[in-house]
Amino acid sequence: MTEIESFDIIIVGAGVIGVATAYHLQKNNPDKNILIVDRYAAAGQANTALSAAAVRNMFASSTNQLLTDTTIKYIEHVQEEIGYDLHFEKAGYLWLMSETQFNHPSVKEWMNRMEKSGIHHEVYDKKQLKKMIPSLNVDFIGDEEVDLMNLEEVDYGLFGGDCGFLDPTRLVEYYLEEFKKITHVKPRFGFNVKRLILGAVPPLELPGEPYVWQNKRVIGIETDEAEIHADTIVLATGAWANELLDPIGMNSQTKCKKRQMFVIHAEDKKRLQDVLHSEGFNELDSIPFVILPSAGVYFRPQLQEEGFWIGCGDKFGRAYKYIQTDDVLAPESSYFENGIYPVLSKYFPAFSDVRPVNSWAGGYCYSPDAIPFVYYENGVLVANGASGSGIMKADAMARIANALYQGKGEAELFGGRTISSTALSIKDRDVEVESVVI
Ligand SMILES: Cc1cc2nc3c(=O)[nH]c(=O)nc-3n(C[C@H](O)[C@H](O)[C@H](O)COP(=O)(O)OP(=O)(O)OC[C@H]3O[C@@H](n4cnc5c(N)ncnc54)[C@H](O)[C@@H]3O)c2cc1C
Repeated sequence: MTEIESFDIIIVGAGVIGVATAYHLQKNNPDKNILIVDRYAAAGQANTALSAAAVRNMFASSTNQLLTDTTIKYIEHVQEEIGYDLHFEKAGYLWLMSETQFNHPSVKEWMNRMEKSGIHHEVYDKKQLKKMIPSLNVDFIGDEEVDLMNLEEVDYGLFGGDCGFLDPTRLVEYYLEEFKKITHVKPRFGFNVKRLILGAVPPLELPGEPYVWQNKRVIGIETDEAEIHADTIVLATGAWANELLDPIGMNSQTKCKKRQMFVIHAEDKKRLQDVLHSEGFNELDSIPFVILPSAGVYFRPQLQEEGFWIGCGDKFGRAYKYIQTDDVLAPESSYFENGIYPVLSKYFPAFSDVRPVNSWAGGYCYSPDAIPFVYYENGVLVANGASGSGIMKADAMARIANALYQGKGEAELFGGRTISSTALSIKDRDVEVESVVI
């Protein structure tokens, strides 16, 4: 019989959350043997690569503010002080709102909480917005379609200048390179984990154990080729968390939904270039990430491509769909044509008559309160449920995972701010519900 390999920790999933966790665990526990496995051919190829690659600290819950603010500061530190180029650029985020939306108590509470946390933001009125983005339509008077389409007029813009974009693949490479500097254990790619193996504690070597009367925990993973054991299994499988947790009766409490991106190029179109290179928001002379007041439509500039990535926050009406391994999550051209495009071209007529040159779709892994889960139960350390913002929370989530592994009550995030290591757990959850989900 071949001997079963064993490690101290196995990390399943080499997306941004998996590699960040691997790095922080290895750095803080240098004697531990940590194996990273992923079924893709390389790290960061799943939803991390499919994202809009944007980061913001402008959340309404103080938990998400803390997770994102410290992660963004770490990203800046890596780029500016360590000198590892993550292509991080501060273009900012801009929420466009009607008077009614702007005066809604939830927006006031959001702004108050940002004020208290020292999160930089400013408000532009309609006149200022029109000056900075001349092609923005702030006046729907005489347009009968806007009522039919439930479109709110633009009266205000809420802007955050510490938000921006980066290259998530570079971030994944950074963590992985740093991880590899401290360990001799090579990550294994093309490794599909079929199931988590339950074992009895203590093992009595009885056939078919663990029995109902035995204490049990997860003791390893079964891949297509082998069984590998570890004291701790980190589950950073994002949208696929339920595939491994459901069979062992652990409720991840997360659900996945499709999210699509459509690419529009501005080259050869002066009117779109004017939108792209709107001045006054940042040093890049670029339009920020823009969230329209209605229908959940948003877009971000893509300066290298001289274009835009356009998306839409699917809320009621979009199925929670459990993604199977081989599912092809195809983007839907009709979703753009009949849904996003009519809205976008009302606010920005410069987009009239343009069509996407590319598109893709991935999965958003939602928690019920739009705050991530990080918890350690039954030998499994779960880090997921980032609710569409895992890149901007990854570093903080990884540090919390490490604190839980080390049995510490508090996790120290980048810059020295702390959070209870169980705040993101299921049993001792201590968070505010997030209301600013894009
Ligand atoms: C269209 C879109 C736009 C987004 N925009 C943003 C954004 O602007 N900013 C932001 O912060 N976030 C954004 N997100 C969300 C972000 O992509 C995710 O929160 C983040 O990538 C989650 O990281 P992860 O490591 O959990 O997941 P993933 O990158 O999906 O990694 C999970 C890994 O687990 C592996 N895996 C799963 N099951 C198994 C198994 N059984 N065996 C072996 N390996 C397995 C997968 O192969 C995968 O590599 C967006 C997502 C989408 C889809």
